[in-house]
Amino acid sequence: MIVITNNEGKAGIPVTARLLEAGKPGLEAVEAGVRMVESDPEVRTVGHGGWPNLLGEVELDASIMCGSTLRTGAVGALKGYLHPISIAREVMERLPHEIIVGEGAARFAHEVGAEAGDLLADHSRQAWNNWYASEVNQADQDIWPNAALIDYCHNAVDPEIGKDTTVFLAQDEHMDITAGTSTSGWGWKYPGRLGDSPIIGAGSYADSRYGACACTGAGEMTIRAGTARAVVLYMKMGMSVQDAVEEAVNDMRALKGGLISRVTIHAIDNAGNHRVVAVNGIPGNFYWYWKSGMEQPEARFAELIQITEDQPQNKPIAMSVYTQGT
Ligand code: ASP
Repeated sequence: MIVITNNEGKAGIPVTARLLEAGKPGLEAVEAGVRMVESDPEVRTVGHGGWPNLLGEVELDASIMCGSTLRTGAVGALKGYLHPISIAREVMERLPHEIIVGEGAARFAHEVGAEAGDLLADHSRQAWNNWYASEVNQADQDIWPNAALIDYCHNAVDPEIGKDTTVFLAQDEHMDITAGTSTSGWGWKYPGRLGDSPIIGAGSYADSRYGACACTGAGEMTIRAGTARAVVLYMKMGMSVQDAVEEAVNDMRALKGGLISRVTIHAIDNAGNHRVVAVNGIPGNFYWYWKSGMEQPEARFAELIQITEDQPQNKPIAMSVYTQGT
């Protein structure tokens, strides 16, 4: 049994590990772990307390994938519900669909009795107010929220470098592999923007026969490169998890234009091996690792691979000025 989560998985990985040790299925263990992260007030990029979009609203994305049935459930741009991972699981269990978004996702969440709640924490509201006051011109403020948002979209950057979405990969005692993701996505994103977290094949993929992969960072990059599916497919084609991740990084080198930033690729194979690589990452980028027999999960550093020369992640982040002290 093994669990890998990204840096934000700290609050959840002990729960996932404990449930796996107790013989629970991976789906249950991953959902429970992700729920802990969604509830963690320290985590500002997942669930309650996540950063808002350009309109100051928190929109959540989440997904879960069962690697033994290849069933998935995902929700995107969901507002007003505290645990999108559980709603994603309900999509998988109760609908003939794999992904629902926006108003439809909220409607479904209500139907299944999911826990509703205000997602905008005080620190996020304050940061958004600071941004609005200093970046939105008077003419646009006069007609807000009906102003054109395209130009403001350039502020859609990650306000907290190195802190992300949460992703969980787990293999249970029956060798079933599960992948789960949950996020508020990038701060100040265009309303309705989906990142890679709800896009199966981009932000996550699991196939119990071979392994699983999940990504954090610039979802736009992994959507374009089909990263999570590619890693698992490369393993199917005979590569080790080490080489599969390397090849997925090489795929990213072909991306031209658009948002090029940092991505962390987390991958496991079906034999208990793993690799975590931070593409364009910063030193100190870490993840959490647990394997059966270990008393507790441990933090490990991701390998750093630079694929751009100008180190975009080291450029000043415009939003930091609005988030200081929040
Ligand atoms: N991958 C997420 C997204 O693009 C964000 C993140 O991991 O920081 O929405």
